[in-house]
Amino acid sequence: MNIETSKKLFEEAKKYIPGGVNSPVRAFKSVGGDPLFIKRGEGSKFWDADGNEFIDYIGSWGPHLFGHNPHFIVDALKAAIENGTSFGAPTSLEVEMAKLITELVPSIEMVRMVNSGTEATMSAVRAARGYTGKEKFIKFEGCYHGHADYFLIKAGSGALTLGVPTSPGVTKGNAADTLLADYNDINSIKKLVSAYKNEIAAVIIEPIAGNMGVVKVKDDFIKELRSICDEEKIVLIFDEVMTGFRVAAGGAQEVLGIRPDLSTFGKIIGGGLPVGAFGGKKEIMEKIAPSGPVYQAGTLSGNPLAMAAGYAALKHIKDNPGIYKQLEERSSYLEKGFKTNLSAVGKNYAMNRVGSMMCIFFTEDNVDDFKSAIKSDTILYGKYFHEMLKRGVYLAPAQFEALFVSTAHSKEDLDKTIRAHRESLEFILK
Ligand SMILES: *Cc1c(COP(=O)(O)O)cnc(C)c1O
Repeated sequence: MNIETSKKLFEEAKKYIPGGVNSPVRAFKSVGGDPLFIKRGEGSKFWDADGNEFIDYIGSWGPHLFGHNPHFIVDALKAAIENGTSFGAPTSLEVEMAKLITELVPSIEMVRMVNSGTEATMSAVRAARGYTGKEKFIKFEGCYHGHADYFLIKAGSGALTLGVPTSPGVTKGNAADTLLADYNDINSIKKLVSAYKNEIAAVIIEPIAGNMGVVKVKDDFIKELRSICDEEKIVLIFDEVMTGFRVAAGGAQEVLGIRPDLSTFGKIIGGGLPVGAFGGKKEIMEKIAPSGPVYQAGTLSGNPLAMAAGYAALKHIKDNPGIYKQLEERSSYLEKGFKTNLSAVGKNYAMNRVGSMMCIFFTEDNVDDFKSAIKSDTILYGKYFHEMLKRGVYLAPAQFEALFVSTAHSKEDLDKTIRAHRESLEFILK
């Protein structure tokens, strides 16, 4: 595979951009090698700067539910741009967008648009704090909620240990209000709730985790979490930045049958443009400025181009409810192919899948939380990644990420991927 142009671009990029990239995981650090610079995408595929073709399974890390450049989003953008790129004043499309979100996700009574998933989660936590008058919140080890200071916290030695910052630049003060619990472990929640009685404003969770690989929450666990939050007057926030409109039109909350108090969105909601949103119960959302005292704002929030793309995506979902069945069929076809390959090479690696989110872990133990996820052999994943890449399949350049199937992936794409998977496994295991 000739990647000369990408290599040159990366050398140049590193002079002007930290690490040569605008978001760290793009740099291939955890799999080794240099990142490819992408020039164009269409449907299930994209092409790099040297003209190599790949079947793409990251879909810009989640947004591309319909593959690259679907005509209905491109057309909506073209129409919107004729009228101007930004006004800093309300537009009718923002009202339609908000209404459509409340229709698709019944727990959302009111919603505020922002520009990224990170903005959505940090604003949701602020809303929960403002509403409850309490300061601490609980997050789960292995869940990712964007890069705001108080989310970049890793576990100490036990569940009751106060968080220690994962990144320099995050203060001890910030870390001190973040409490850590173990995913799928209700006792870790109970301990925190009794140790910090009346101090906890919110619990934020990826209801189907996608940032430690794919790990589904257990039914009993999420039910119990919901009732503990009710009893303790803790705001339950579902971070659906990845799962929203991906696993069902109504997100993970529809799949699980659990109604959170607040939800956050990003990725698919922007149709490929930079968009996020947070919303939920009216009595909480009404605390947001200007209807309430909790400050939250954005120069480009509700941007007309972003709303045009996002609305086109959500409208397509609303008008085509059959896409989730189609996604399920394709994803289960891919999963079956992978499983057949795994047994052919005599490995029983864990594979987790919820709808069109999937992950192969290079460990034979079940993966249902962070501790089991990190048993995966990441060196082997790196080898697997590069073998797949050589065979024209672009996966996430890191183990603890999801593989996304889109409506644009054809049976031919899936068959090619399954063949590549078989050859790659044989190659790396020999
Ligand atoms: C991607 C992601 C975020 C952060 O969104 P950005 O748009 O990258 O800021 C937050 N939460 C979850 C669950 C995500 O997958």
